[in-house]
Amino acid sequence: MKNTIQSQDQVFWYLKRSAANVLREDVHADVAIIGGGMAGLTAAQAFLKKGKKVILLEAFYCGAGASGKSSGFITPNGELGISDFTHLFGKQAACTIWKRITSGMQHIKDNIDQYALDCEYMKQDSLYVASKQRDVKRLMGEHTALQEFGYASRYMQKNELQAVLGAHGYYGGITYPDTFGINAYAYCQAMKDILIQQGVAICEETPVLAVHQQSIDTLHAKVTADRIVVCADRFMPTLSMLKQQIYHVQTFILMSQPLTDAQIQMIFPHNNYMVWDTELVYNYYRLHGNRLLLGGGSVLNTYNTYETHNSRYMYNKLTRYFKKKFPQLTLQFEHIWPGLIGISKDIAPIMGADKENSSIYYIGAAAGLPVAASLALYAADHIVDGADDLKNYFSPYRAFPIGGVAQSLMGDKLSFAVSNVLKMDLI
Ligand SMILES: Cc1cc2nc3c(=O)[nH]c(=O)nc-3n(C[C@H](O)[C@H](O)[C@H](O)COP(=O)(O)OP(=O)(O)OC[C@H]3O[C@@H](n4cnc5c(N)ncnc54)[C@H](O)[C@@H]3O)c2cc1C
Repeated sequence: MKNTIQSQDQVFWYLKRSAANVLREDVHADVAIIGGGMAGLTAAQAFLKKGKKVILLEAFYCGAGASGKSSGFITPNGELGISDFTHLFGKQAACTIWKRITSGMQHIKDNIDQYALDCEYMKQDSLYVASKQRDVKRLMGEHTALQEFGYASRYMQKNELQAVLGAHGYYGGITYPDTFGINAYAYCQAMKDILIQQGVAICEETPVLAVHQQSIDTLHAKVTADRIVVCADRFMPTLSMLKQQIYHVQTFILMSQPLTDAQIQMIFPHNNYMVWDTELVYNYYRLHGNRLLLGGGSVLNTYNTYETHNSRYMYNKLTRYFKKKFPQLTLQFEHIWPGLIGISKDIAPIMGADKENSSIYYIGAAAGLPVAASLALYAADHIVDGADDLKNYFSPYRAFPIGGVAQSLMGDKLSFAVSNVLKMDLI
């Protein structure tokens, strides 16, 4: 049938959930963490390793936010590549930041190996492809920067690319190794169980209602803590935190029916890659088991206030993209879901202490699972051991392209859209 959605609007990952442990009694901890996504769970693990008594409070269930809806590309490129960090902060800083981000990736991989996590790990090299001839320059910039910093990267011209990806209409690509795909919802749920066994108190279905100096109000009980680490990402403004600094962008995922070996071979003749393109609102795809996960967005709904469910427009847009790139294949997509990613106005993450209450520390707008993990590891290194190698880059109170009165007049949606576009152009 033409022009109808033939997918159910449902996050493919949400197949099983364990019962929640709701916080019902007042409790004290050294560190209280708000949010059970990649940032919160990694922070809980990191503080526990440093000998702290940790409690994690999650409004719904671990992975309920962006982490558990994500496409699970574990690659150091979130919204920003190494060349973007170089433009923003200079070479030395980019090198430090990239090291931290790759350590976030390594942390995820180490957990998968050490605890044999059942999170559908798939080793997949990254493949960043140029949608237009003029975008090849951008790829070359990233390739050169990766090589300069000692990371493996290979540039492929159009004809070379066609040998490794059965797609039409890309003008070149760079690949790099040591990246992988996961079901990040399963990862969050599995890490929740591990951390509970190790002694972290994890309370799901326990929304935080208010945060004060060293105390937190939840629905049924109060938590007191020496440190409060807020890992609620795009939800922070609902707690009246960083309202001007954090908003969100929307992206959509389609999950296909299982593919035959022959169909997989038509997409990835040799290696199976995690692919994304250079469109302003980029498209991405990878194999998840034997299904194809296809994601992307549109300038029309990127900055929507709420998630757009049952979007026929996005179903048609993404399936058209797939058909254009792989005209030889006809796939049925069984699931579609939207997700909102926390983002700052200059696209770089946000991390640091509250300016009025130094017991509160923010981690947000990571715009990438490895980035979220790396910031959480850094937060523990910083708060417990005094590490300060990232202190100059991601302050919530840095200067942004638009803020203050201008933002109040323009509204958050427009302020973030304009700031992000300005920043993309500058990068
Ligand atoms: C569709 C989609 C695809 C993506 N694909 C990728 C990808 O392939 N690779 C990649 O690296 N990144 C991807 N991202 C981005 C990535 O998922 C996020 O940047 C990352 O997960 C952020 O992690 P986080 O822990 O900071 O936030 P979240 O995962 O959003 O966690 C925040 C948590 O806080 C909880 N919370 C909110 N308010 C409260 C409250 N009041 N009390 C208690 N808890 C609260 C939420 O329920 C949530 O669980 C994707 C995102 C989306 C939406």
